Amino acid sequence: MDEMVEILNKIDDVLNCQRCELARSRTNVVVGDGPIDAEIMIIGEAPGRNEDKHGKPFVGSAGKILNEVLEKNGIKREKVYITNIVKCRPPKNRAPKAGEVEACHPYLKKQIEIISPKLIVLLGKTAGETFLDRSVSLGDEHGKIFEHNGIPVLLAYHPAAIIYNRKLKDSLIEDMKKVSELICSSL
Ligand code: URA
Ligand code: SF4
Repeated sequence: MDEMVEILNKIDDVLNCQRCELARSRTNVVVGDGPIDAEIMIIGEAPGRNEDKHGKPFVGSAGKILNEVLEKNGIKREKVYITNIVKCRPPKNRAPKAGEVEACHPYLKKQIEIISPKLIVLLGKTAGETFLDRSVSLGDEHGKIFEHNGIPVLLAYHPAAIIYNRKLKDSLIEDMKKVSELICSSL
């Protein structure tokens, strides 16, 4: 069994989790992907259709953009731990509700504790607002680094936003450059 799944199973049977109503519509619980000792963690919002189908994060069109952005900055995807705020796909890809974020949070908290990353990249508003515990305007705040429990967190646009607004792509590439600057040893 996946090492991370084994760890999260100490909280609950994560792959069969029923802690929130997203359990009813999901196909697979998308725990996360990457090495357990990664120096960089990337956190998105929630699995989409492809992720739900395959049980892996960022494998659809947003994932394609993420891969490209990482590659452009010389960051190897396989060295990064990638997960989401909630582990199950919300119906029609709606944003997760506060209660769902809260119900799922013990898993994410444990993942951060185990991985103990040097830097967390928060993709999109949901991830940003969950970590900063306030409303976030990515237009104003993308590229900024804050702190969460002693770990630097970088706010960035969600790759899915780029599908609708190609102009944001350069911003995301530019913001992600900070990852390589901060963590040059691990790339
Ligand atoms: N969008 C996300 O936030 N996460 C995924 O895993 C895929 C798309
Ligand atoms: Fe459990 Fe999280 Fe899935 Fe809700 S989203 S059922 S809390 S794993």
